[in-house]
Amino acid sequence: MTRINPGGTIGILGGGQLGRMLALSAAQLGYRCHIFCPEENSPAFQVADRHTVASYTNEAALIEFSKSVDVATYEFENVPGNTADTVAAHTLLRPGARALTVTQDRLTEKQFLGEAGVQTAPYEAFHTAEELEAAFKVIGRPSVAKTRRFGYDGKGQKLVKTPKDLEAVLDVTQNTPAILEGFIPFDREISVVVARSASGDVAAYPVGENVHTNHILDTTDVPAGVSERVEAKAKVMATKVANALDYVGVMAVEMFVTDSSGEIIVNEIAPRVHNSGHWTMDGARTSQFEQHIRAICDLPLGDTRALGKVRMKNLLGEEILDVEKFLEDPIASLHHYGKSEPRPGRKMGHVTWVERAE
Ligand code: AMP
Repeated sequence: MTRINPGGTIGILGGGQLGRMLALSAAQLGYRCHIFCPEENSPAFQVADRHTVASYTNEAALIEFSKSVDVATYEFENVPGNTADTVAAHTLLRPGARALTVTQDRLTEKQFLGEAGVQTAPYEAFHTAEELEAAFKVIGRPSVAKTRRFGYDGKGQKLVKTPKDLEAVLDVTQNTPAILEGFIPFDREISVVVARSASGDVAAYPVGENVHTNHILDTTDVPAGVSERVEAKAKVMATKVANALDYVGVMAVEMFVTDSSGEIIVNEIAPRVHNSGHWTMDGARTSQFEQHIRAICDLPLGDTRALGKVRMKNLLGEEILDVEKFLEDPIASLHHYGKSEPRPGRKMGHVTWVERAE
């Protein structure tokens, strides 16, 4: 196993808030960061040693970036396959390219989860109108159509409640390959942030309960309002997923908990640090960002225990203009991502409140 000691350089593909918070944690542990991102003025550039502005298809720039770092990682799951391959040919890429190929496509992700012995919503793949009709006959209603690739925050999704709703599905999927999955009448949405180090050590954080508004994460609460049995089972499932992927780094596994029996159904996996893990920055002994750096550098994993009762709230768009009230709140911690333009729905920052356990 290759350990990268403090003093080394970590490359990060992507310069958004996740890259920024990773770079801050890396600096705390004595590493330098080199950020690679196509957008000028990316939030992570403000806090990193070095950055490269270039397209993810610019092979020469990718090679130069890869040669300048001891290990590379990414802050988003849609890293193009060729980009990951180029980087992996010139440096260590952690997590590896397989985590990307499995999770970039909802069909391969669901197939992988099934093989790993984890329950998902029932699903059928479709592309054409005829295939959609056939899928609808199997899955029934209500169901949710989702594009296989590039869907996020509810984009590329259509809820199907009546056969008439089927007419709009192909407009939403834009005739790209998609899946139709059974709608899960869930009681709660939860996620488990789990880390696996290059040496194979695994540590899961306490389960977070997530509330989405307009398909975008609004709040995460820890502890989640689930039984000890569900808490333990969710962590076991996330660990199983990380091990089955031979994963290195921090990942989030998003799940539905059904009301009747407390059954857990995995919705999706994010092969990266995740918004539902932001609470760990102030509410756990080790933040998910530090944990990711530890995992990819093959340092011992940190303690994942929560420090008390924690709530994280995202600040979207103009909510960031209201920072005064959070600054005045003695138990609130404000995280501002340094983005200049507060567009509607844009993640501008977050706040955490920690009620410390005695
Ligand atoms: P996703 O893009 O798959 O994370 O879905 C975004 C959100 O849509 C989820 O967080 C759920 O609130 C809802 N959703 C997605 N799939 C389903 C499903 N099969 N059943 C019920 N709700 C769903």
